[in-house]
Amino acid sequence: MNVAFLGLGAIGAPMARHIASAHQLTVWNRTAAKAEAFGGELGVRVAATASDAARGADVVITCLPTSREVEMVLDGNDALLAALDAGTTLVDCTSGDPASSRRIAERLAARGVGFLDAPVSGGVSGAEAGVLTVMCGGDAATFERVRPVLGAFGRKIVLVGPVGAGHALKAVNNALLAVHIWSTSEGLAALAKAGVSPSAALDVINASSGRSNTSENLIPQRVVTRAFPRTFRLALLEKDVGIAADFLREQRVPSVVIQQVADLFRIARGELGEVADHVEAAKIVERWSGVEIRDP
Ligand code: NDP
Repeated sequence: MNVAFLGLGAIGAPMARHIASAHQLTVWNRTAAKAEAFGGELGVRVAATASDAARGADVVITCLPTSREVEMVLDGNDALLAALDAGTTLVDCTSGDPASSRRIAERLAARGVGFLDAPVSGGVSGAEAGVLTVMCGGDAATFERVRPVLGAFGRKIVLVGPVGAGHALKAVNNALLAVHIWSTSEGLAALAKAGVSPSAALDVINASSGRSNTSENLIPQRVVTRAFPRTFRLALLEKDVGIAADFLREQRVPSVVIQQVADLFRIARGELGEVADHVEAAKIVERWSGVEIRDP
């Protein structure tokens, strides 16, 4: 298929790399130098604008920070929306918000353009390995049409409901991630203060019922080692928990924990800034508790 990929960020670039090996790819990125470096490396077409990238594409993929940037690209000076031909499908791999996705899908449908929200999970390492989980919202025919493109970077690819359902599920998933990062950090900080080394505590927790991806991978590899690599911006996780908090409220589900964690990540974003990694939230817990989660 002819695929246009818009947004070569931390996760977009490795996803696009897999598409390049299975489909005809054109890339566009706001900072042109990134797209040129990518095109030079992989020998794919580099477009000067999003509209130019979409010309002749069967599938246009967006992977931008939030739905706001997706709408900005659709409606901005370059006006991607007006450049999309009937029969094209826009696949939004951004972790966006369900209401924006429904609005975008309606506007595209009026032009005969299909839409699927298809956010991903698995992190940069999952994207590099081509084993992401892809959770999709849309109709079955659109899903089947674009599935071969999703298969280039995804392993578990699931249609979970109508437009917006993928984004709702992704927000809930990431709210759980945020809860685990915050609560595991709190528990380990208290244990460290009481003289239990974090590695010993994690060894036990990871053979017990409190384990999670956070306790098995994130905290041992990133916090205890003090490595804190930057792979997924805390600002983006804060955005995701905020979407989840709004979604739960809209569904009238009492959500004390998720609302609180949304507030905590808003504070952490304010304290740590826009480039900090999501796992650096543990540093706020450390600051407040006066102890570092590291082995003696
Ligand atoms: P990055 O911040 O690394 O990259 C963002 C991308 O969006 C860049 O290509 C950037 O362009 C582009 N961009 C930002 N603002 C605009 C704008 N106004 N107009 C056009 N392009 C813009 O983000 P990630 O790649 O990490 O994340 C992308 C999406 O994927 C997010 O929704 C995130 O939540 C989600 N995600 C990320 C994961 C991760 O591990 N990183 C895991 C799962 C989902 P430029 O190069 O010019 O800055």
